Formats: sequence, structure tokens, C-alpha cells
Amino acid sequence: MYQVIVIGGGYGGLRAIEHLYKSKDAEITLIDKNPYHYMQTESYGYIAGRFDITDVALDLEHWCRGFDERVKFICAKVRHIDFEKQTLVYEQKHIAYDELIIAVGARTHFFSFIQGLKAHSFGVKSLERSFGLRQAFEKRIYQKLTKEMIEREGDLHIVVGGAGLSGVEIAAEMAYMLKKYEKVLGSHVKEISITLIDASETILPGLDPYLIEKSQKRLESLGVNVRRGAFIEKVEERKIFFKEGEPVFYDFMIFTGGIEAAVLTKQIDVPKNSIGQFIVDERLHVGGKENVYAIGDCIELRDRSGSILPPTAQMAEKSAAYVAKEIKCKRERKENHQSFHATMDGLFVALGGNYAAGILYDRIKVSGILGFLLKKLVSRGYRLGLEIKVNAGYKKRIKR
Ligand SMILES: Cc1cc2nc3c(=O)[nH]c(=O)nc-3n(C[C@H](O)[C@H](O)[C@H](O)COP(=O)(O)OP(=O)(O)OC[C@H]3O[C@@H](n4cnc5c(N)ncnc54)[C@H](O)[C@@H]3O)c2cc1C
Repeated sequence: MYQVIVIGGGYGGLRAIEHLYKSKDAEITLIDKNPYHYMQTESYGYIAGRFDITDVALDLEHWCRGFDERVKFICAKVRHIDFEKQTLVYEQKHIAYDELIIAVGARTHFFSFIQGLKAHSFGVKSLERSFGLRQAFEKRIYQKLTKEMIEREGDLHIVVGGAGLSGVEIAAEMAYMLKKYEKVLGSHVKEISITLIDASETILPGLDPYLIEKSQKRLESLGVNVRRGAFIEKVEERKIFFKEGEPVFYDFMIFTGGIEAAVLTKQIDVPKNSIGQFIVDERLHVGGKENVYAIGDCIELRDRSGSILPPTAQMAEKSAAYVAKEIKCKRERKENHQSFHATMDGLFVALGGNYAAGILYDRIKVSGILGFLLKKLVSRGYRLGLEIKVNAGYKKRIKR
């Protein structure tokens, strides 16, 4: 038997375990600082109040129990890795590994050169922050319903900084929900405005023009103010200043403008890029170590042309499947003839309500309800696979 440790129960970590489990001589330990798997890809709906917490969080203990005793879960934050001794340190305890997979993801990058950004805005890369954001959004809707607030405050302004995939999805879903609330709760809700800001000359920079055009049109039809080419210089309480142009007033601000690798990567002395992601080799080894791999958002991924790919759950899962195969081949003394090539099969952008735009295999373009149904099919399929294991794990637990 050999011991595999996976740090991080996100999209990459869980997919790696599913594949590794097929090797009968692998004993796998998942370590995550949180007791749950956070489905970030659905967080736009959670923040806007359309989805519940059960749509975005799944218990990791139950999920691991859904396998046999070869899969274990430890809820703890990994603080240090000793590559020489092949051990990890968490909560003053040590654990040894034969093979290590680092899948710790990324966090919101509150750029230090934008004064006041971190202090005055919310990120969405953790459940805790999304929860805070959802409450802030609901509080504003509640406030608008109370007469006192209407008379005292006037309009409320929500600003989303960063018009990448997550910023666009959140702005669109919030705007959609406001329209829905307006019918039921009255026109005061109309006095909540949403502004989406990006420094680029386009929303969804780097993505296909089809997705950009569809998203732009949909945001406009939902009443989102889109401000492009606006470089945020400073954020004060209730006021955002730009390099050029007039400041914007806000009631609360969400920042989705960039990511940086998780904290653990900082203390690992191997080649990294400017946002702390590991620069791995073509077999996804970290620092040239034969038994240490990294996957998902904590690595820099490039396509065959050398262009950096956006961090996605899809790439986290693909890199996970590759590493699991690589470990299996190595342990069975077979050669894996393929190195890792990052290619995107497609991408869908949720644009509020039952509307999404997407591209599959660079050719098939869909939008509207069909796009939404396809996006749902992907996320439901993913979730169903996890739920089967969670249910099995839950049943085992209550039997004991
Ligand atoms: C609003 C939004 C919408 C998105 N939409 C899409 C989409 O439509 N399609 C798509 O493909 N992608 C989408 N993404 C991106 C996608 O969610 C990420 O790329 C994906 O989560 C990366 O997976 P991961 O496994 O690398 O990291 P994560 O899912 O972030 O998981 C990392 C895990 O590591 C754990 N961890 C971190 N540090 C430690 C430590 N020191 N010790 C123990 N555990 C630790 C964390 O608790 C976490 O569970 C979206 C993201 C957002 C925010």
C-alpha cells in the first residue's frame, strides 16, 4: 500500500481522489481547512439569494466515508510541507506521504496598490465571504422595504469590481433577482442599482467575442450599468476613485478583479509566477519533486500556444485526472506516454435567471434557455456524483 495525501477538497482535490481510489493499493487522506466542499461555480446564485447553502456546500467527512476505509478525511489547515522528510504539519501534528497532491486553490487578490480595496470590498472565493455578501445584499433589500430608509437614504448602489466570469455572473444574477423582487416587493427595490466596473476595454477580457457580446447585451437588458476602461485607484467608505473620470458612490462593493494563489503556496520555495501560482513541469510536478504534484487554481496553466488559461473548475478537474493517472502508472511501473496539455472543452456564463451563453469545443455556440439548460446539466451532473457518495457516507455514519 502507498499513502497519498491530497491537500484541498475543492474541484481538483475531489476529482483526484475519485480517480486514485480506483488503484486498490492507494490509501488516500484528504486534508481541508474547512469541513465542506464549496461549489464556487454556483456561488453567484447563492449570493443573489436564488440558491440555498445546500446548493453550494457539501460535507467532506460524509463524502470521504462514502468510499471504503482507504479514504480518510482530516479537517485541518496545513501549515508546512517538508519535502525532504516527506511530511506535512497541521495543528502541531505530522503526517507522512509517499505521493502528495497540492490542490489548495486561490483567493481573491485585493491588489495592494489600490488603497482601501481590501478594507471596503467583499470577495467571493470562500463560503464565508459569499455568506457575508448574501447578507449584505438581503439587508439592502430589507432596508428598501422600510419606509424610514426610503425617506432617509434614496438610491442604493451596488458595485461589482472586475468583469471577468465571476463578476459578470454575480452582477447579472443580482440584477435578475432585483427585477423579480420588484414585482412582489414593490418599486422601492428598483432604487437599488448595480454597476459593473473593469479596467479593460471589454467585459470578460480574453474570452470569446460571442460570449462577450451576448453577456454585454444581457447585462444591458437587466439594467446593469457597465463601466469599462475604468481603472480603480482608491476605495474609500462609500466612494470609489478612478485614474480618470468622476468617482462613483457605492453602498457596498464586491471585488472579483483578480486572484492569487492560496497562502500555503507562499511558504513553499519553488518557482512561482507573480500571483504565487506554482510553475509546474509538463507532468505537473512541483519544484522538480517526483512525488509532489499540484493541480487547479494554484498552478499556472498555459495552452499549446503558450497563452495563460483562466483558472476554472474544468481545468482543476482535468489536471486532477491527469495526476491520478500519472501516479497510478508510476506505482504500477508503467510508462505514462502523455504529458499534460491544458485544453478547454467549453465555457458557459450564467447571465441571470434561466439564461446563459456558452461555447463548446470552439464551435458550438448557445445562448438563452438552451445555454442555461446545458450549464445546469453540467453542474447537476457534477453535484449528483458527489451527492451519491455523501448519501452513502451519511448512511454508514448513522448505522454506527
Ligand atoms: C462566482 C464564480 C463563478 C465561477 N464559474 C465557473 C464556471 O462556470 N466554470 C468553471 O470551470 N469555473 C468557474 N469558476 C472557477 C472555479 O470555481 C475555480 O477555478 C475552482 O474552484 C478551482 O478549483 P480548485 O480545486 O483548484 O480550488 P478550490 O475549489 O478553491 O479548492 C481549494 C480547497 O483547498 C482548501 N485549502 C486551501 N488552503 C488550505 C490549507 N492550507 N490546508 C488545507 N486546505 C486548504 C480550501 O478550503 C478549498 O476547499 C468560478 C468561480 C467563481 C468565484
